[in-house]
Amino acid sequence: MSTPRTAPDEAVLASGGPKPEPEKVERAVARIDLGAVTRNCAHLRSLLTGGAELCAVVKADGYGHGATQCARAALRGGATWLAVATAREAEELRAGGLDCRLLVLGALTPEDAATAVAASAEVVAWREDLVERLAGMARAAPVRVHVKLDTGMGRLGTGDREEAARVAARVAAHPRLGLAGVMSHFATADELGDEHFPAQLRSFTAFVEEMRALYPDLVAHAANSAATYRDPAAHFDLVRCGVAVYGLDPFQSDPAERDLEPALALESYVAEVKPLATGQSAGYGRRFVASEPTCIGVLPIGYGDGVRRGLTNNAEVLVGGGFHPLVGTVSMDNITVDLGPDTPARPGEPAVLIGAQGGERLTAEEMARRLDTINYEVTCGLSPRVARTYAGE
Ligand SMILES: *Cc1c(COP(=O)(O)O)cnc(C)c1O
Repeated sequence: MSTPRTAPDEAVLASGGPKPEPEKVERAVARIDLGAVTRNCAHLRSLLTGGAELCAVVKADGYGHGATQCARAALRGGATWLAVATAREAEELRAGGLDCRLLVLGALTPEDAATAVAASAEVVAWREDLVERLAGMARAAPVRVHVKLDTGMGRLGTGDREEAARVAARVAAHPRLGLAGVMSHFATADELGDEHFPAQLRSFTAFVEEMRALYPDLVAHAANSAATYRDPAAHFDLVRCGVAVYGLDPFQSDPAERDLEPALALESYVAEVKPLATGQSAGYGRRFVASEPTCIGVLPIGYGDGVRRGLTNNAEVLVGGGFHPLVGTVSMDNITVDLGPDTPARPGEPAVLIGAQGGERLTAEEMARRLDTINYEVTCGLSPRVARTYAGE
């Protein structure tokens, strides 16, 4: 999405003069709309076929949005399962009072496995030695295990269907383990039209048929957000959606095209407005030198907050309802924005790096494109120094 630069709107210009400092600005804040998370989950559920359920993936602190808050909002929207990557993340959700089915997707050290089991989380296994280790940790209730077949992701899981079947049999036969599911993960679900996704889907479908014949109660699952949109045949019994839950587009396009609402807005404020004469510069290394007189807005947010240095001379910021270019070097604690020579902006003016202001909006997808990365990395990269505030609960 290109962002035309627009002048501050006329009402703002006409008001002129010094304005009182708005009281609600914060240095750097991620405002999370939990209502959007709930609605995104309800929308994802409406796409599901054949009675498939929705597992909301809230790993990496809910993709930077806050895991427990988003987990609760996702359950309100009809998700029935949660998934995380690590045992510690599972422990934190349980401590936050979430007691639904909870799957730890990642590899587990023996210590991690004990933590996951203690949190009554379900775990993934694909080798017989992993199964034995889990069995040794089971306490009162059997540990629920999901057997992972690698159908072409080339990471965790076994690529050998016979090994996967042996592991499943071993779990099913063990008194302290329960065979809860079989799973796989797609490598290219977001690359529409590629051949690898359908090949993985065929391979997993064949495995699921074989396993269901033996274990009719299995929960089969493979789809991430992109696969959930891409092919109903990938829904099986459960879909594991992460990025779409937060209203981020799994295909790196505009989330609105898929009826997704971005849940996160990243905001700061103009702490200083500084006139620059022609030839004067802003920031480290003088990466911006005024070619004509202008005013610079200094925003107290930087790469220490997760606003990446690659945005140097390479972003737009909303101030006064209009787009303004980020100019100069992104430093740890500050960025500078070219507000133009006649800006009505005064210290205290709110600024938006991701989100909407005055009818305009900036998306995480656009910021990701400028950084040659993906929206996932933009929101996961917001540091703990950014306050999170929640609405819509
Ligand atoms: C992170 C993850 C997901 C969720 O992926 P999205 O693209 O965010 O929907 C699903 N499954 C596994 C195994 C994952 O690691």
